[in-house]
Amino acid sequence: MATPLEDTYWHKGMRRKLVDSLRRKGVKEEHILSAMEGLPRHFFLEKAFEEKAYEDMAFPIGCEQTISQPYTVAYQTALLEVQKRDKVLEIGTGSGYQAAILALLGARVYTIERQETLYLKTKALLLKLGMRSVRCFFRDGTKGLPEFAPFDKILVTAGIDRAPQTLLDQLAIGGMLVIPVGSDVQRMERITRVGEKDYRTERFDQFKFVPFLPGLKKKEE
Ligand code: SAH
Repeated sequence: MATPLEDTYWHKGMRRKLVDSLRRKGVKEEHILSAMEGLPRHFFLEKAFEEKAYEDMAFPIGCEQTISQPYTVAYQTALLEVQKRDKVLEIGTGSGYQAAILALLGARVYTIERQETLYLKTKALLLKLGMRSVRCFFRDGTKGLPEFAPFDKILVTAGIDRAPQTLLDQLAIGGMLVIPVGSDVQRMERITRVGEKDYRTERFDQFKFVPFLPGLKKKEE
């Protein structure tokens, strides 16, 4: 891992400004904002983007994927209503930033990535950061993680036409799935499993995510 993990006063100052801007955009959950203020986002980006790490924007992380915009991370995390010790499944590990925020909120995180290159890189980074409550898997998210189900919460960080039944099946009763639904742009949905076969859907704002894709993409040798 080439990126030196150095967090200076400059970085901290930039982080405070980012968090202030999220507050102005309507993020009200102070515990989420303080987790974001505490986590150096530049650790999750290539050195070339270091100067930009504290802008409220998505950036490339390789393999044609992006780290989510901080506002989106705050928004999805708020909808998930994470409680300490919640067992959370994330689909789309990407840079690992969202998984790390969930871990800082006290969740036990299981995160799945279909791109082997990203999986390997992010797993190493999270280990280096001492994030022991995040477990990384190189899997196809369409299948979820049946051997660890049920989950209290499931978070999908890639856009998909509809919530896969496999993921709904892996929710605990009372559990919630937060997922961006749609092909070109996506509407954020929160689906609560209210009974064995009963689900309640709530719809929120629109976002634009990279696509949820089936199958695994092996690292090129
Ligand atoms: N949560 C990430 C966002 C990454 S973008 C972060 O904080 O950086 C979405 C990620 O979902 C991409 O890395 C993409 O490869 C992954 N993805 C897309 N379809 C997937 C699938 N079926 N299974 C697992 N991961 C998937």
